[in-house]
Amino acid sequence: MVNTAERDRLGDGLGDRLEDRLGQRSDAVDSAADRLRPPAAQAGDAAHPPGAAPPPVAPLIALRDVRRAYSGSDGGPATEVLRGISLDIAAGEFVAIVGASGSGKSTLMHILGCLDRPSSGTYRFAGQDIAQLRADELAWLRREAFGFVFQGYHLVRSLDAQRNVEMPAVYAGAGLAERERRAAALLDQLGLADRATFRPGQLSGGQQQRVSIARALMNGGHVILADEPTGALDSRSGAEVVALLRELADAGHTVILITHDRAVAAQARRIVEIRDGQIVSDSGVRAPVAPRAMLPASLDPRRFRAAMTAGTAHGARPWTDMREAFAAAWTVMWTNRFRTALTLLGIIIGVASVIVMLAIGAGTQEKVIAKISSFGTNRLYVIPGGDNSRGPGGVLTEADVRTIRQVPHVVAVTPILRNKVMLRAGNVDAYVNAMGVTTDVRRVMNWNVARGLFFTEQDERQLATVVLLGKKTRERLYGDASPIGAYLLVNNVPFQVIGELEEKGATSGDADDDDIVLMPYPTGARRVIGTTNLNWITLLVDDIDNAEEVTKGITAALEATHRVRDFRVYNRAASVRAQTETQQTMTIMLGLVAAISLVVGGIGVMNIMLVTVKERTREIGIRMAAGARQRDIQRQFLTEAITVTLVGGLAGVLIGVIIGVALLHWEVPVIFSARAMLGAFACALVTGLVFGFMPARQAARLDPVTALASD
Ligand code: ADP
Ligand code: MG
Repeated sequence: MVNTAERDRLGDGLGDRLEDRLGQRSDAVDSAADRLRPPAAQAGDAAHPPGAAPPPVAPLIALRDVRRAYSGSDGGPATEVLRGISLDIAAGEFVAIVGASGSGKSTLMHILGCLDRPSSGTYRFAGQDIAQLRADELAWLRREAFGFVFQGYHLVRSLDAQRNVEMPAVYAGAGLAERERRAAALLDQLGLADRATFRPGQLSGGQQQRVSIARALMNGGHVILADEPTGALDSRSGAEVVALLRELADAGHTVILITHDRAVAAQARRIVEIRDGQIVSDSGVRAPVAPRAMLPASLDPRRFRAAMTAGTAHGARPWTDMREAFAAAWTVMWTNRFRTALTLLGIIIGVASVIVMLAIGAGTQEKVIAKISSFGTNRLYVIPGGDNSRGPGGVLTEADVRTIRQVPHVVAVTPILRNKVMLRAGNVDAYVNAMGVTTDVRRVMNWNVARGLFFTEQDERQLATVVLLGKKTRERLYGDASPIGAYLLVNNVPFQVIGELEEKGATSGDADDDDIVLMPYPTGARRVIGTTNLNWITLLVDDIDNAEEVTKGITAALEATHRVRDFRVYNRAASVRAQTETQQTMTIMLGLVAAISLVVGGIGVMNIMLVTVKERTREIGIRMAAGARQRDIQRQFLTEAITVTLVGGLAGVLIGVIIGVALLHWEVPVIFSARAMLGAFACALVTGLVFGFMPARQAARLDPVTALASD
C-alpha cells in the first residue's frame, strides 16, 4: 500500500510526462482523430471561459429513476440490482462511483456505456433517449462516445497490443494506415512504444491496462468508463492508472471511474456513493469542470441525431474490409491449425473425390467413345444361336444375307465365313484367319485396298481363286516385296494374290484385322472352308438412329423364314454404350458419396464455428464494447467459416489432382476439367457460407454484457 504522498508523487510524475505528451499531442494524431469523426465542436470553450459555471445546457448523461432487475433463475423472483438511480453528469466531469462489491456499480456502468438497457426509467445521452436506439445505433454511440477500461483489461488475447488498440477504429471505418499511425502514437504516449508487438499474455497487468486505456482513446474516448481499473493491479501500477485517468480528465475527457476503493475514488472531482442499487451520497462537483470539455460535434445534442444516422450508415469499403477479414480469419485458423485440419477432412475428401470421380468419368467416357468409333457405330451383327443357350443352334446362310439386304435402311451386307487356314508361299508358312466375304465388306468394314485390286462380283460368281492379304500376313510371307500377282497355297489350294489391304492398326475382338487373308465367300465356302454355314453376317445401317428399327426388321424377316428365333442381332456400339451407362451410373453414385462428404464436412465446419463462437464469446463482447455492429461480428465469423472452407477446398483440389496424376501412372484414363475443379471449389465455398451462417448469426446476436462476463 503506498501512502497518499507517494501516490501523488507517482501520479504527478506520470501526469507531468503525460501532460507533456498530451500537450504537444502531435498534429498527426489530432488530424487522424479528426478524420475519424466530424471536427470537434469547441464552441463551448469560447462561450464558457475557464472557471465559469457549467453551461446551462442539458447534461451529457442524465439518468432518471433507472432500475435494472434480473429475472431469478428457474422462474424465481426477480432481483432488482439498481433501484431508482437518478444522476446527471456533465461533459468534462471526473466522477467516481464508489460502493461495496455487489452494490450494482458494474451494472450501472454497463447501462451508462450502452452495453445494457435499464429495465425501467430513462437514460438520456446528449439529450437522446437511449431506449429508442436500435442495436446498430447503440454500436455507433459506443464507438463514437465511449472508451471502456475494465478490471480484467479485456484485451483480445490473440492480437498484439497494436492490433488491440486499433480495433475500435476498424469498426469506425478508419483506413489501415491511419489507424496504425494513431494506435502507434497512443501506445507511444502511454509509454508502450516498445511493447506494440507484444500479446496481452506477454505484458504485465499495468501494461495491459495501459493498452486498454490506449484502446479506449482510439476513437476519441470522449467518455471514459473505467470499471475497477486498478482492481487487478499492484498499488504502484494502480496509482499510475488513476493518474492517467486524471490527466485525461484534465485534457477534457469525461471520466467515470468505478471503484470499491475510497482512496482511489478520492482522486476524482466528484464522488457518488452507491449502496444496494441506490445512490446514498453525491459530493457534487468539488472542483471546476475541466476548462475545455472535449466533445466532438457529433455528440452535440443539436447534431446528435444527424451524426448518428450518418455514422450508422458508414462502412462501404468492401475490398479493404474483405482483405482484413480474411487476414484476421487466417490468423485465427492458423492458431488452431490442428483442430481446423481435422474439421476440414470432410471438405477435403469431398472436393478431392468430386474431382477424381469426374476426371475418371471423363477419361473413361473418352476411351469408350474412341472404342465405339473404332467399331463403327452403324454396324450390326447377326450371329447364329438364340438368346437362350438351350434354344436351337441355328444356321445362317447366304439366303439370309439376301433376306437382310431387303430390310429397309440396310446399306450393305456381307456374309462372314471365317476359319484358320495354312498359307504357304514358296517355303514360308503362315497360319492365319481366312475370311470369305462379299465385295460389300469394303463398305461394311471400311476396308480399303492398299495396292492391287479388290475381287469383283464376277469373281464371286466364278469361284475365282483370288485372295487379298492383310499387311501383317504379307510381311510374314513376302517381307517387303510386292505380293501382287504371286501364287500361294491356301490349305493346299492354289490362289493368286490380287491385292493388299490397308493397315487397320486395331483389333476387333480376338482377331487381328491385319493378319488375315480375304477371299470371295463362295470360293471360301466351297474350296477352302468346306461349309456354307456362316459364322456371322455383318451389315451397315444408314443411320445409327435406325439401328433399333433395322434390328426389328431383320428379326421379323429371319423369323419368317427360319420359323424359330435361332439367331441374334446385336450392335456392338450399343453394348459398349450400355457399358458406358453403367459406368456413368457409378460415377453419379460416387459423386453422391462426394456430395455427402461435403455435407458432412459442412457440418464439421458448423461445429467448429459453434465451438469458436463459444470459446471467443468474451472477445465478441470486447468487440461489441469497441463499437462493432452485429453485422460486423456476423461478417467476421462468416469470413472465418469461408476462409476455413476455402482452404479445405484448395487442399481438396490439390489432393484430387495428386490422386489423378497417380492414377494416370497406373494407366487409369483420367481427364481433368477446370470446370469440375471450379465446381467442387464453389461447392466448398457454398458449404462454408451455408454452415457458417448459423454460428455467425448466433455470435452477432450475443448480448454484449453477457458476452463480456463469459470466461
Ligand atoms: P458491483 O460491480 O458493484 O460489484 P454488480 O453490478 O456486478 O456489482 O452486481 C450487482 C448485483 O447484481 C450482484 O448481486 C450480482 O449478483 C447481480 N448480478 C449482476 N449481473 C447479474 C446477472 N446477469 N444476472 C443476475 N444477477 C446479476
Ligand atoms: Mg463490478
